[in-house]
Amino acid sequence: MVSSLGLGMPASAQDDFAGREQLRASSAEFRKDVIQVTDGVFVAVGYSASNVTLIQGRDGSIIVDTSANPVDARAIIEAFGVRMVRPVRAIIYTHNHPDHSGGAKAFAGSDNPTIYSHQALVDAKPEFGRGPRGGGDAFGTKLPGELFINAGTQLEYGRVTPHTREGFLPPTRTFSGEEETIEVSGVRMQLIHTPGESPENIAVWIPEKGVLLPGDDFYKSYPNLSPLRGLSLRPPEKWIASLERMMTLDASYLVQGHMRPVLGKDEVREALTVYRNGIKTVLDQTLEGIKQGKTPDELVQEVRLSPELAKSPYLQEYYGSVAWTVRGIYADYVGWFDGNPTNIFPLPPAERAAKMLEMAGGADSMLARARKALEAGEFQWATELTDYVLAVDPKNVAAKRLKAAALTELGERQVNATARNYYLTSAQFLMAN
Ligand SMILES: [Zn+2]
Repeated sequence: MVSSLGLGMPASAQDDFAGREQLRASSAEFRKDVIQVTDGVFVAVGYSASNVTLIQGRDGSIIVDTSANPVDARAIIEAFGVRMVRPVRAIIYTHNHPDHSGGAKAFAGSDNPTIYSHQALVDAKPEFGRGPRGGGDAFGTKLPGELFINAGTQLEYGRVTPHTREGFLPPTRTFSGEEETIEVSGVRMQLIHTPGESPENIAVWIPEKGVLLPGDDFYKSYPNLSPLRGLSLRPPEKWIASLERMMTLDASYLVQGHMRPVLGKDEVREALTVYRNGIKTVLDQTLEGIKQGKTPDELVQEVRLSPELAKSPYLQEYYGSVAWTVRGIYADYVGWFDGNPTNIFPLPPAERAAKMLEMAGGADSMLARARKALEAGEFQWATELTDYVLAVDPKNVAAKRLKAAALTELGERQVNATARNYYLTSAQFLMAN
């Protein structure tokens, strides 16, 4: 483990562990609890990577989302206890992510429930995703316990009980349009197609109870529109439209797929509104900057939430990030080229690095500069300098150690859980390989 102590940092560099401590405090959202939302609606928080909601019907139960796997699902069934009356009449998947759909078999038991989803869940192709590189893992699944805080919207994404598909049951009743009204065990529900965090996401709206389950279109973090783990942009326009559709419902309770629910009409309106505004302002500023010919690197220095939005408890960057959203929108709208002709056919990294090393007086001299940067609290600069050495000599042990130390310092200053996890897992990989 790379120590973050003893680097002789100036005081100015020592006061920015506030982000890490804020992230640590956010774990309170995942404490284990079965919360009664309103009459006949309960949500199990903190038992798995995602929440499971129980809706009591006239002669049985309705389950919305099923947790990550049968082990977690059985713990939740036990926690619901007598509140979950069998038979389970229906299971509703808000979307296909494995942490929401992996425990269905345990809830179904031998009850043979109808299993609802949008048709897009059935048609969805597996996410493409980027292959592993340098041990980086946004979810920190293999990070030692003492370094792990949380995974952004969940406490332990796949760390203790991994997602498996063994507990998944395919939907038996899907809809393809914008919405569908169903009645199960005397409970009338509207299933509304609300693409956002995933293309197949649906919201479940129970008008008689004022309860809205938005799936993953809302959680208490800046939305992850362009995840570090390597996905195409989650279309901001669609996400905004889905939030606006949900705002028209005037719900009293918002029971999302992660973290504790939002209770009270004013609070729900506020939550959905700041979420919509938080996406829209970043989209608008980025598109305006693109029109003005600005590069992604320039735009991430300029695009900001308003001070008021930046203060919102629903827009802290625990999981998504404004800067990554800017980059994702840029790539989605105008592609990879930033407009600078230097970057049409840039030098190969090893060739550029060799020339930089020559200018710096060789690898040892470059590493001495990197060490100085590290000691001065210039961690990003330190890791950029070590990259020149590693581009020419990937096995350079001193460079790997220095880079690991710099990445650790960066990780320890992050409010964003996925960035922290990626920095720290990459640092561990550098030390071990
Ligand atoms: Zn989720």
